Amino acid sequence: MKKLIIIGAGIAGLTTGIYGKLNGFETEIYEMHSQPGGECTGWKRKEYYFDGCIHWLMGSKVGSPLNKIWREVGALDDTVKIINHDFFYSYEEDGKVVYLYRDTTKLKTHLNEVAPEDSEMITYLCKAIEASKSVGIPTEKPLDLLNSFDVIKMLIKMQPAIKYVPKLEKMSIQEFADQFKSPILKNALTMLIPPYFKATALVATIASMAGGDSGWPEGGSLALAKRVEAKYKSLEGEVFYNSKVKKILVEDGKAKGILLEDGTERFADYVISTADGHTTLFEMLEGKYLDDNLKSLYTDSETYPVYTTVQVSLGANCDLSKYPHTRYITIPSEIDGGGKANKQIGFRHYCFDKTLMPEGKSALITLLPADFNWWEEKYSDSESYKSEKERIANEIKATAEQYYPELKHNIEPIDVATPMTYVRYCNAWQGAWMAWATTPKGKVQYIPGYLPGLEHFYLAGQWTLLPGGLPTAVLTGRWVIQRICKWDRRKFKRS
Ligand SMILES: Cc1cc2nc3c(=O)[nH]c(=O)nc-3n(C[C@H](O)[C@H](O)[C@H](O)COP(=O)(O)OP(=O)(O)OC[C@H]3O[C@@H](n4cnc5c(N)ncnc54)[C@H](O)[C@@H]3O)c2cc1C
Repeated sequence: MKKLIIIGAGIAGLTTGIYGKLNGFETEIYEMHSQPGGECTGWKRKEYYFDGCIHWLMGSKVGSPLNKIWREVGALDDTVKIINHDFFYSYEEDGKVVYLYRDTTKLKTHLNEVAPEDSEMITYLCKAIEASKSVGIPTEKPLDLLNSFDVIKMLIKMQPAIKYVPKLEKMSIQEFADQFKSPILKNALTMLIPPYFKATALVATIASMAGGDSGWPEGGSLALAKRVEAKYKSLEGEVFYNSKVKKILVEDGKAKGILLEDGTERFADYVISTADGHTTLFEMLEGKYLDDNLKSLYTDSETYPVYTTVQVSLGANCDLSKYPHTRYITIPSEIDGGGKANKQIGFRHYCFDKTLMPEGKSALITLLPADFNWWEEKYSDSESYKSEKERIANEIKATAEQYYPELKHNIEPIDVATPMTYVRYCNAWQGAWMAWATTPKGKVQYIPGYLPGLEHFYLAGQWTLLPGGLPTAVLTGRWVIQRICKWDRRKFKRS
């Protein structure tokens, strides 16, 4: 039986393992952390569960193409309730509130009430969202294995949205929002996704929610990851935790195995890395197998920026369910997230999921955009790192208490995860928790899993399909096995 070594037990690595087993390979996953999930995670402090990932899960709608794949890998099934909120978030500024509703009729009426002067742009936005509802990422095959028939099918599906693409592809979300006259709408539209992304990303994301396909899976991110791990183990796949890979062993232009940090060597017919792309290419493979696309992605940070944050999680002995689940607020003075000033703060309480915490308790979580280099420098001095974490915790606590008065004297644990936390637990380059942003200047969208000059080695995971996220993790994990099956002359099996 041919053997696969898979690096990383995030969603991409576990998915690769599942389809590897389903297609008759022996599989071994090596993961540096002590648990599955990678960036799809959550953690407990006292009796509070703090989710560290999912805000929306594309593919949550039964019957959608991605949903079939989430079901194949065990992430979703009929027992997992999906919670679809009425709106993405609310945004507050100068005593006014805007809701980003997912129903486009309701959204249009509401935005026109808030800013009648923008009725033309509001109509344009709502039409673009409606037209994009049925567009999604092609799921069935890797993009490099699509034939002309598949491409025609994809174009037909995209047809209603196509007329909006040329305009929205060329402008950033910020530029799109700037076309609105109302200051509150301008700001409200830039809260969902970083404003340097293409405007198509904004429309596609709202459209996915409008189509009922971006809900919250009850139980949260870590529970989802554990279900995928359970599926892999049910197929008798092996996973080795606390096993950090140092090098990929190469002989005569072919990957033949891995070297672990403890000095152990393991061998296989194919090696697949779903670990962080930078670590894989520049450390495990010593920067020897790069093409022009990879070089530009890793050097041109203006065209291909990555994004990191500080997550502050408050456990509160009170019920916050009367507030909007996700609430962005313009605060009177800025909070420094570490090299980045934040004038708008987004809070999310998780009271909508009763499985997460005891009755009457809430987890209030905020993500503050931050600068990786700033945090890396602080991390080199443990005292200053600790004091910055404390400063942010205190500032967020004080701000939260202003907007949620019930919190006073009721906050129990406060947890701060910085960009260095993502490095420590996931080896994440630049503390990034998605891949590169899709900006109007960016050309590269997709990295086929194979590298020039290196056979029997493949990349998968979020760093191979921009801009990353859970759908890219599960799809690229599946695609890599589809490619290997094709080259190995096996018919790909999905179950
Ligand atoms: C705060 C936050 C919010 C998010 N929100 C969403 C959302 O709403 N929707 C969405 O779709 N996505 C979201 N994401 C993104 C999503 O979590 C990631 O895109 C996805 O989990 C990436 O999966 P992956 O398997 O490709 O990579 P990873 O999760 O990074 O997995 C890679 C694995 O490789 C391991 N590894 C690294 N180096 C080594 C080594 N040398 N040896 C062994 N193992 C190694 C890591 O420990 C890790 O487990 C969010 C992420 C965060 C952090």
